[in-house]
Parts: sequence; structure tokens; C-alpha cells
Amino acid sequence: MAQEKTPNCEIIIAGAGLSGLTTAYLLSKQNVDFQIFEASDRPGGRIHSVTSSLHENSQFDLGPTWIWPEYQPVAAKWLDTLGLESFEQFDNGDAIVETNADSDVYRQMLPGQHGIRRIKGGPRAMVNQLLKAFPRSKINLESAIDRVELFEDGVRIHTNNPAQQIIHAKKLIIAVPPRMAHQSINWPAEMAPQLSSMLQITPTWMATQAKAIIEYPHAFWRKSGLSGRIASHSGPLVEVHDHCSFDGKATALFGFVGVPHQGRSELQSRLHKAIIEQLVHCFGELARKPLKLTIQDWAGEPHICSGTDLETSPAHPEVMPGFIRGAHFNERVFFTSAETSARSPGLIEGALDAGERIAARISAQLETGR
Ligand SMILES: Cc1cc2nc3c(=O)[nH]c(=O)nc-3n(C[C@H](O)[C@H](O)[C@H](O)COP(=O)(O)OP(=O)(O)OC[C@H]3O[C@@H](n4cnc5c(N)ncnc54)[C@H](O)[C@@H]3O)c2cc1C
Repeated sequence: MAQEKTPNCEIIIAGAGLSGLTTAYLLSKQNVDFQIFEASDRPGGRIHSVTSSLHENSQFDLGPTWIWPEYQPVAAKWLDTLGLESFEQFDNGDAIVETNADSDVYRQMLPGQHGIRRIKGGPRAMVNQLLKAFPRSKINLESAIDRVELFEDGVRIHTNNPAQQIIHAKKLIIAVPPRMAHQSINWPAEMAPQLSSMLQITPTWMATQAKAIIEYPHAFWRKSGLSGRIASHSGPLVEVHDHCSFDGKATALFGFVGVPHQGRSELQSRLHKAIIEQLVHCFGELARKPLKLTIQDWAGEPHICSGTDLETSPAHPEVMPGFIRGAHFNERVFFTSAETSARSPGLIEGALDAGERIAARISAQLETGR
């Protein structure tokens, strides 16, 4: 193992999703020198949104929407820390049940999920608040880390950005979904087989899903005593929910597309039309003319959804063995990302928990000079 020259920064963070930004926020509060390398052209990772066409301050969520603060102490704490508030997911009134596209739909009360809430401004507001803690120059966008090398007292990363090709640091934090970390980065040969296997087998939560946002000028369903929920056995949306902003100004529904990712690209041109036809079937003619329909297909996101996620059945990640949460490559490499959390793997709560855990560990190590 060669000696390496002075690092360019103390800590490199790979990935500007919620877990990487949480670590960055906490390290910045302790004046730790870090740089973030993000493969895509925006921070946020799976947290992504589209702006309302009528209210430019309102965003609709293309990725996560829900938190359960009553059961998620870490998320509840971060809402406080970041000065954000949550509000109840609207679920007043009947849902529509659709058994198939040719028969009548019917109204029915459906059981709610106790404690399910949304963040005012959406999870995007969390990202925006975290980003305020440090200069934007600390995030290098369109800079995918594609190779990691180890040295006696540090790491060297290679990125695909010609302006930022090789960076040296004391430590490297991988805030990238495990499968993506395995697929997109060329690791040193001495990677422990146990680590390699854990990275490969851990599913990326929601990576193959597609979400549709259907924005309307008014929440017409609410006026008819409907909650906006649809439970459908025919699709293309299998589950639909009210997605109006907390102040009720921006009005929309969101739905999960039930068509498996293999068939979605072929359907792409027909999917918009099929979604509108389904909403008309469930809610009547008022649903025919949305202001905007946006479909976010996560299976097509090359930095989130790995080849293994595409080839295997979607599954919720389980709590991974403690080994993943330890230090790797002689205390130089650490893995975070929602999937590595022991608390709520795959969820917002998990991303915050994992980001916190790694920041605490790195700070402790830097204090003791390791
Ligand atoms: C449709 C959908 C709905 C969801 N709904 C909910 C919900 O309601 N509630 C909930 O709690 N959770 C939900 N989730 C999960 C939630 O979004 C995630 O838990 C959380 O956003 C994960 O954050 P993260 O930072 O761990 O990972 P990510 O957000 O995946 O961030 C990883 C980042 O790493 C980058 N990257 C990848 N490879 C490299 C590389 N080689 N070099 C540099 N950068 C790289 C990626 O571009 C990305 O920005 C949902 C997810 C989706 C997709």
C-alpha cells in the first residue's frame, strides 16, 4: 500500500441524497472540511419534486411523501431542527374502489394508516434546509465516483467529471444505495467478500416504482365527500391519494403506477391517456382535464436504480447486519444511505438516522486524530 500526498479535503461524501446531506449538515456544524460528489445534476436523490403550474411556491412529490413522526423519533427531531412542520395526510371521506376497468366503481371507507403525515413543502423542504448549512461550492454535481483507491492514511477517488477527476481525502462516506455503490464504483480488490455480498443483496427501496402527479385547478373530489383515494385492481394506477398542498392552494392527486417497469417504456405514450381514462372512470368527467400530468419513472434513473434492482422482485430492505454500519477498509470507508439504517431501512427516517450515525462516528475519529 503506497503512501499518499496531502489530502484535498478531509472527508469525501459520495451522494447528495438525504443521508449524504444529513452527514454534510452535521459535519459542517463542526467545521469539518468535506466535499460532496453527486452523480446527477441535482441534489436530493430520491427526494424530487415538480412545481405546481398555478402556484410556483408549491411542489408535488415525485419521490417520498410520508413520514410517521409519532413512530419516527429521528424524523420528528429533524423537523424541529430544520424548523419544518408536518400536517395530516388528507383522508376525509370515502375512497373509490375499482375492481376492473369495465364495471362500476363504488365508494367505501378504507382503513387509514395511523400517524401518516406530510411535511409542509414536502421532503424537498428538508433538502433545502440542509443545503443552507454549507456553501453550494461543496457539492460537485455530475461527478459520479467511479473508482476508489486506498492508501495508508487515506483514500483517492476518481470521478467521471473531467474538472474533478481525482480527489484525495482521509475518509470516504458512501451515501449511495448499496446496490448502486456496488455497481457504479470500481472497488479495491481487498473488499471483504461479506461487504461485497451485502451491497449486492440489499434492495433499493422503491427503485423500480413509478409515481404519477395529476394536478387539477380544484380538488373536486373533496367537494363530493371523497378522500381522493382509489384502490384499484385494474390500474394503471393501483393506489391514488390526495396530494394537495397544506394550504389547499395547489391541488393534485398522486398515484403509484402498477404496470411493472419492463412494460412501462412501451406503454409510455399510452400511459398518460390510460391514467386520465382511469381517473374519469373513478371520479367522473371533472377528472378529464388536469392542468398537468407528470410521471416519474424511478426505474429509469441510472444513479438510483441498479441493474440488480431491475432484475429482481422489488422488496423492502431488511435491517442489515451490523457489519455494514462499521468502518471498512481500515477505518477509511463508511456506508450510509437509508438502506443501511437499523431503524427504518429504506425510509426517510432511515436516511436521517444513517446520516447522523456516520457524522457522529467521523467526528469522534477526527477528534482522536484517527
Ligand atoms: C417513489 C418513491 C416513494 C417513496 N416514498 C417514501 C415515503 O413515503 N416515505 C419514506 O420514508 N420514504 C419513501 N421513499 C424512500 C426515500 O425516498 C428514501 O429513503 C430516501 O430518499 C433515501 O435517501 P438516501 O440519501 O439514502 O439515498 P438516495 O436518495 O438514493 O441518494 C443517493 C444519491 O447518490 C447518488 N449517486 C449514486 N451513485 C453515485 C456515485 N457513484 N457517485 C456519486 N453519487 C452517486 C444518486 O444520484 C443520489 O443522489 C420513497 C422513494 C421513492 C423513489
